[in-house]
This record gives sequence, structure tokens and C-alpha cells, in this order.
Amino acid sequence: MYDMRAEPMASETGSARLWHVLQLDGSALCGRALAARPVAASDDDCRDEYCTPCMTAVAAAASRRGRLRPTT
Ligand SMILES: [Zn+2]
Repeated sequence: MYDMRAEPMASETGSARLWHVLQLDGSALCGRALAARPVAASDDDCRDEYCTPCMTAVAAAASRRGRLRPTT
């Protein structure tokens, strides 16, 4: 399973969180350097956005696993 980490992101409509997917070594799948301190997940003023490269990487990994699964 993957861990996720949000980082603060300025957007046209105010503050938002950008969620990245972390590898086992704690770096983001998209290669972006993340702030050491995660954003509080309870801020109602924040919208949630998802990092597209991270999501694409997860989808690719999931489909690779799917192909490796034996078909019986
Ligand atoms: Zn990312």
C-alpha cells in the first residue's frame, strides 16, 4: 500500500492541499521534494487536489501487478 503526503498549494480559489504518493523511502513518486512537515488534514478551508504524476504512477504500478497475476 502507498502512503500519501499533502503539501500546501496556492490556487486561484484559495488554499488547497496537493496530495502526493510516497515511495517506501519517503520520496514522492513524481520526484518532487516535499516539505518535511505534512499539512494538517483537518483544515476545512483547504480543497484537496491530487498530484497527476503520482496518480499516474500508482495506476501504472497497479496495472503491472494486474498483468502479473496468474489467470485461472
Ligand atoms: Zn506527486
